[in-house]
Amino acid sequence: MSTATLPLPVMPDTHGHFGRFGGMFVPETLMAALTDLADHYDRARKDPTFQAELDRLLGDYVGRPTPLYLAERWTEKLGGAKVYLKREDLLHTGAHKINNALGQALLALRLGKKRIIAETGAGQHGVATATVCARFGFDCTIYMGKVDMERQALNVARMRFLGAKVVAVTAGQATLKEAVNEAMRDWVTNVDTTHYILGSALGSHPFPMMVRDFHRIIGVEAREQILARENRLPDLLVACVGGGSNAMGLFHPFLNDEGVRMIGVEAGGEGILPEKHAARFQGGRLGVLQGTKTWLLANADGQIELTHSVSAGLDYAAIGPEHAWLHEQGRVEYTYATDDEAMDGFQELSRVEGIIPALESAHAIAHVKKIAPLMSPDDIIVVNLSGRGDKDVAQAARIVFGEDIFKM
Ligand SMILES: *Cc1c(COP(=O)(O)O)cnc(C)c1O
Repeated sequence: MSTATLPLPVMPDTHGHFGRFGGMFVPETLMAALTDLADHYDRARKDPTFQAELDRLLGDYVGRPTPLYLAERWTEKLGGAKVYLKREDLLHTGAHKINNALGQALLALRLGKKRIIAETGAGQHGVATATVCARFGFDCTIYMGKVDMERQALNVARMRFLGAKVVAVTAGQATLKEAVNEAMRDWVTNVDTTHYILGSALGSHPFPMMVRDFHRIIGVEAREQILARENRLPDLLVACVGGGSNAMGLFHPFLNDEGVRMIGVEAGGEGILPEKHAARFQGGRLGVLQGTKTWLLANADGQIELTHSVSAGLDYAAIGPEHAWLHEQGRVEYTYATDDEAMDGFQELSRVEGIIPALESAHAIAHVKKIAPLMSPDDIIVVNLSGRGDKDVAQAARIVFGEDIFKM
């Protein structure tokens, strides 16, 4: 099982290092803003008024706590371990991302910033950010690659109805990486008035720690719920890993529970060949990208490689630095599911449980499909259902039925 020495140290240090990973690799002009953000966050974290307001809105507005659901029919079909789903798909706007967007919006209020920017790939983080901006009356600008805007037209329309300005980024591959660059450029220019709501456990300190903390509620609830239900901790936690925020949220409160094994599932795309996947621990290397030192996909010259996944939310060249550290410690295991396996998982959960998962979450589902049958009926798996699949139905219909649902 785990090779890490427990208990694990409290991470990160004051400059955001998780062991040799993480840190603050940003332009000079952003250092003051990031330090200020880290200070305000530290005070907010310890302030009962801040926590009470966050808890109230997580309850009334976002829909927490989410259920821990025993997938009975699926468990029976798999014929092994008992499988529970942590239902983040039931949250307002359809995924876990709102936990972090809300936390950071409350922090922006404290920072006295009236303008919010964010980057988005699939559009889920853009929608969550636009939502909290509408809720608090912030001016909102979302950077999105032009290619992603075409692929995710529904989410672009949602953001616009929510009052956000969506800026098309045309540089390079015109996807998430370029959108992050553009958001950073905006932030450098407008840092006095603007807060950048980063969407995953990535980037410069304090973002990886802060985003993780806002999602810890997932694991805190799951822990209480499984103890109430089964009177013991689970044997295995499974979550998909893009930047790594939903996985960190589920895993973190269990890291020092020796008997709990954890598996992060990356995007295996069309297989582990250059430019065909986004599984950073399969052929990746140590490097620096967009503010943090971590495991990433780059060629021998250090140039970032193109990535591919059926799921836009997992399609990014770098993984969050805390995951790089947990991987090195051997505390969390990392594997991958291919596009085809994720599509199978997407269809199986839809048919057997009546729950259409996000294509990102379908990667975690795909791994449970492989591992649950090898485990005993006395074993318990908790899998994070990070989001719902409504946003993916058009794409899935094209792949599975060969039909364009907007032209039927
Ligand atoms: C964005 C997204 C992910 C991937 O991001 P993480 O930071 O790795 O959690 C996973 N699932 C859903 C539903 C998403 O929207």
